[in-house]
Amino acid sequence: MKAISVLTSGGDSPGMNAAIRAVVRKAIYHNINVYGIYQGYAGLISGNIKKLELGSVGDIIHRGGTMLYTARCEEFKTLEGQKKGIEQLKERGIEGLVVIGGDGSYKGAQKLTEHGFPCIGLPGTIDNDIAGTDYTIGFNTALHTVLDSIDKIRDTATSHERTFIIEVMGRHAGDIALWAGLAGGAETIIIPEIDTTIDDVANRIRQGQERGKKHTIIIVAEGVCSGMEFAKQLKEKTNLDTRVSVLGHIQRGGSPTAFDRVLASRLAGRAVELLIEGKAGRAVGMEKSEIVDYSFDEVFSMPHKIDESMYRLSKELSI
Ligand code: ADP
Repeated sequence: MKAISVLTSGGDSPGMNAAIRAVVRKAIYHNINVYGIYQGYAGLISGNIKKLELGSVGDIIHRGGTMLYTARCEEFKTLEGQKKGIEQLKERGIEGLVVIGGDGSYKGAQKLTEHGFPCIGLPGTIDNDIAGTDYTIGFNTALHTVLDSIDKIRDTATSHERTFIIEVMGRHAGDIALWAGLAGGAETIIIPEIDTTIDDVANRIRQGQERGKKHTIIIVAEGVCSGMEFAKQLKEKTNLDTRVSVLGHIQRGGSPTAFDRVLASRLAGRAVELLIEGKAGRAVGMEKSEIVDYSFDEVFSMPHKIDESMYRLSKELSI
């Protein structure tokens, strides 16, 4: 393999830069040229592709976002778009591609591999919603950001003896809500994977107040409903006034944690090795601290699960 390429696609996440850096450095270490594709699959189609050197990825390991920018690209979902992309790569003598993104980005990488162009996927998303890895790149950093906000909101919630509803990201997955809720000592965690009724929540708030709790913190995953919608339903049921905090895009930014930088570096290093070994159509992940890889089909067929024992524990600890 003489030349490979790397792109970031879909939603950005902290640690993508550390992954790009590791792809570039590992490839150059093995005397392979590396090209950066800017703006995801859109840049692949339009040929926004530049050769990267060791110095191109200097001073980015600690930065959030992605130096290659990211985009969503409808044209790439078509066969014509995919063929244009492959032409751009072949024109430059590029023989492999590392795609850093979520499951939509994996679908694109799978298509290219099916057309004979070797791709490897790395899980880059804060949502932790990709199967075949215990953690996605960016999840840990997002968790720290959410936790910092919960801690701050707790201060004001206690002072005013208020109930706060905090809406967090996660798309269809409840991982951010569950982990941040457990770490932040939230009274109630509402996630898509587990049905919770407004009556359950109202009862828990009532029991807490009877026991003398000064505040209540409720974490709502965006995959269930918005924080405002939840506050409305709670008000209708209990007449309780709440304050709603929507954390929004701050969860996507910030300097990646040590965990995310190490994860990104390890997964990216393995991605380059797989291409050197002649493998294609695989997604790299980490399970029980071991670096693993699965075919894209395996990743799509495995359900993403949350750890229900963590959910039960959070309920036991917040009585
Ligand atoms: P994420 O990768 O974070 O899940 P998206 O679902 O928006 O984000 O996917 C990112 C990009 O991947 C899309 O804009 C599109 O270019 C490409 N993509 C998504 N699904 C497919 C598909 N079925 N076939 C080809 N490309 C796809």
